[in-house]
Amino acid sequence: MNALAFEPVSLPPGIHAWRREVREFIAPRVAALPAEKRANAWAVFDAVFSRELGARGWIGLTWPREYGGAQRSALERYVLLEELLAAGAPVGAHWIADRQSGPALLRYGTEAQRQRFLPAIARGECYFCIGMSEPGAGSDLAAVRSRAQRRGDRWILNGQKVWTTHAHQAHMMIALVRTGEPGGKRHEGLSQFLVDLKSPGVTVRPIVDLAGDVHFNEVFFDDVAVPHDMLLGTEGQGWQQCTSELSLERSGPERYLSSHALFVELLRAASPASEAQCIEIGRITAELWTLRQMSFAVAGRLANGQDPALEAALVKDLGNSFEQALPRRVQALLDDGLALHDDAPLARVLALLLQVSPSFSLRGGTREILRGIIARGLGLR
Ligand SMILES: Cc1cc2nc3c(=O)[nH]c(=O)nc-3n(C[C@H](O)[C@H](O)[C@H](O)COP(=O)(O)OP(=O)(O)OC[C@H]3O[C@@H](n4cnc5c(N)ncnc54)[C@H](O)[C@@H]3O)c2cc1C
Repeated sequence: MNALAFEPVSLPPGIHAWRREVREFIAPRVAALPAEKRANAWAVFDAVFSRELGARGWIGLTWPREYGGAQRSALERYVLLEELLAAGAPVGAHWIADRQSGPALLRYGTEAQRQRFLPAIARGECYFCIGMSEPGAGSDLAAVRSRAQRRGDRWILNGQKVWTTHAHQAHMMIALVRTGEPGGKRHEGLSQFLVDLKSPGVTVRPIVDLAGDVHFNEVFFDDVAVPHDMLLGTEGQGWQQCTSELSLERSGPERYLSSHALFVELLRAASPASEAQCIEIGRITAELWTLRQMSFAVAGRLANGQDPALEAALVKDLGNSFEQALPRRVQALLDDGLALHDDAPLARVLALLLQVSPSFSLRGGTREILRGIIARGLGLR
């Protein structure tokens, strides 16, 4: 059986001053935001905030300076993300590009692709979306049917993506599509392309979620011409490239802080707190702190160039379970005499999270799929 590695991380010198600097920057910018806008903040799209963060050099924080980055450490980046999310800053516009599209370009992109996209991402001016899921290809991602066929120096793209977060506001999509026959192995014959969402033949159709908001979309490709120099990485290696993003996608603090605004409002409302409320708040704090240590440990390993895919899946599964259960746990405290007025911030953020939290264990890989990965990683299946 494989051992899980969650080694404690030693923080770099100057990290407390860095945390203070980040807090001082964020505080005035979120002060006027209503509580429900501070919940699930990494889904909240605000181009003005992203550009401000970019102007400060805080997008692509770890990237080389030649591509617009600040060459800071991965742990400094972790602290930045943690502070942004804990404060409920609206980071959704640049989140995907900063977290995984930029790193994918650094790893697999050509020099021309890096020069074209990375500085614009780092300035907070270029937003990406993830084109993986399709109808019939979610958990079973290798079943993607969108297809690109080579015609001279272009690829002609046809097919459909679904649940594509921010496709209606993003500039670019990294799309996983079929470019060859799967042969004996279904994961073969897939490639990734950088698709300009303004290209003729691309139709983006927003999907309204349960809370009445539009975050994700259907995206249709109808004979979309993609220049050959927008192939990302190697033709036929799309599956390997795509799965190498997943540790980045799964282990960050966004996987346990989506309901954090609710916890903050709970602390405000439960004052003075009853004994039962104190016990529950203590439990929530202990769980939050444990998740934080685990997530930090994965960040430490990523910073050392390792790929802790198993630990990342575990952090996501535990983190999603925590952030998904929080609204129900707070609701249970209402029966314990926690006062709640309809227009109170606690009521508004609770109402929102009760509606959107079921999605927390779907996005980025479902609970059942993650548990399968964990079981396999531990040698149990
Ligand atoms: C808020 C949100 C944002 C998203 N954003 C994006 C995005 O930006 N880009 C993108 O590409 N996708 C995105 N997705 C899609 C997401 O990745 C998929 O919803 C997810 O992978 C599940 O796929 P599916 O919806 O097709 O469900 P299915 O794969 O059909 O699964 C349905 C249910 O069956 C279970 N199941 C499936 N297979 C197995 C199995 N082998 N064993 C046990 N149980 C199984 C699943 O766990 C799930 O509970 C987003 C989803 C959400 C909710």
